[in-house]
Amino acid sequence: MKEILYSSTRGGERGLTASQAILRGLAADGGLFMPGEIPAFDFDLETLIGKSYQETAYAVMRLFLTDYTEEELKACIAGAYDAKFDTPEMAPLVKADGAYYLELFHGKTIAFKDMALSILPYLMTTAARKNGVTNKIEILTATSGDTGKAAMAGFADVPGTGIIVFFPKGGVSRFQELQMVTQKGENTAVVALHGNFDDAQTGVKEIFGDKAFNAMLAEHQIQLSSANSINIGRLVPQVVYYVWAYLKLRENGEIAEGEKINVCVPTGNFGNILAAYFAKHCGLPVDKLICASNDNNVLTDFFNTGVYDKNRDFMITTSPSMDILVSSNLERLLYLASGCDTAEDRVLMRLLKETGKYRIPQKMRDAMVDFRGGCAVQEEVAARIRDLYEKSGYVIDTHTGVASAVYEKYRKETGDETKTVIASTASPFKFSRAVMSAIQGDVSGLDDWEVIDLLSEKAGIPIPPAVEEIRTAEVRHRTECDPDKMEETVAKLLGI
Ligand SMILES: *Cc1c(COP(=O)(O)O)cnc(C)c1O
Repeated sequence: MKEILYSSTRGGERGLTASQAILRGLAADGGLFMPGEIPAFDFDLETLIGKSYQETAYAVMRLFLTDYTEEELKACIAGAYDAKFDTPEMAPLVKADGAYYLELFHGKTIAFKDMALSILPYLMTTAARKNGVTNKIEILTATSGDTGKAAMAGFADVPGTGIIVFFPKGGVSRFQELQMVTQKGENTAVVALHGNFDDAQTGVKEIFGDKAFNAMLAEHQIQLSSANSINIGRLVPQVVYYVWAYLKLRENGEIAEGEKINVCVPTGNFGNILAAYFAKHCGLPVDKLICASNDNNVLTDFFNTGVYDKNRDFMITTSPSMDILVSSNLERLLYLASGCDTAEDRVLMRLLKETGKYRIPQKMRDAMVDFRGGCAVQEEVAARIRDLYEKSGYVIDTHTGVASAVYEKYRKETGDETKTVIASTASPFKFSRAVMSAIQGDVSGLDDWEVIDLLSEKAGIPIPPAVEEIRTAEVRHRTECDPDKMEETVAKLLGI
């Protein structure tokens, strides 16, 4: 098998093994690690039909993580994808109203981030062992609501690691906040930031880039890494579930051998949809990649005009995990679309930093023809959640609702009837109030738990354990800080 090495999108670092790239998270030049090439499937897809999720994961991930031995990678997969998930399928595919919903929310924190974040700690600790790292690995993460909880659930009490999560105070749902501030584990810390997600993400990236601060940490035998989707170890496990969805469609006789499918992904940081794009490059028969945004529709404009412009109001919506104006992983698509031109990437990223805006040349736009951008505002999302429920009885969360609404518009506008997989990224229970007010109308007279009970009744599904846990959990984290005090806060939390 061909060895895959990783390099920064900005050209400053080259030739890292997968395990080194995972340990590092972000490159020292501020770029993101990319594989030297996207590996092609070296097997016939048809041979995977009927295989387990774990077997599929091994077949796909081994292509990217070539310095992990078979034994190491299989151990990581077995440790991650076990009874923590409430179904042995890991990611069931549900057909409703003419589309296929890939339910990625059956893990511990009932959002799709579990798919990658339950395996990242295994990949990371294995990487540390392989590279003789004895420092404590401190994970520093900005979250728009779901990453933080899923990352803490993955890293809690993992020896040799610690984790600090920054979330935008008031910018996540009440339930997401409760999930985070009640997190157990001696090595976990949560900070409510007086700012939005972009402030949190920018602050974290700056800490990664601060050489003096990192040198000071090194003196205390600590090194930083990232659990955000800027870490390639987050991206690779996500490639798997698109392959899995395809295999399920084959297994159920919904598509013929080699038949192309579309995917539609509710997008924030552009990680999930990029994984689908990677899957396409590996050889998965995917036609269009529909990038669905909420009211924060920077990406829709980008795909329609070639101009990325974050200079606009930041909207807080009912799909908070997509309330993002700077989608980090887009840098990886720019890099691919420019033919791995690191100089071009540096120019665009500098423009983004200095002016909040850039325009890509036509040749790069041409390289992105597989993508379609679409957006749905909150009212459209609520209407779509209700409509789908009335037509099929199937209840989806607000993020999945964005994708579903965008897909319906796409289908009407284009007449494209290609079978489409919609990434269902969170359980409706995670956003019960918004989901129930979409279905039922005004629920302001009910408290949170009454809304959850009502949802369980309407959807005909039991309340997930992740929700039940929150009822009685005690608040353990109360730290808050301003965006310009993040580094200080990290130092304080680490006791240095
Ligand atoms: C994080 C998240 C998204 C956005 O995914 P990206 O990979 O950041 O594009 C969408 N929906 C939910 C529920 C999420 O938690």
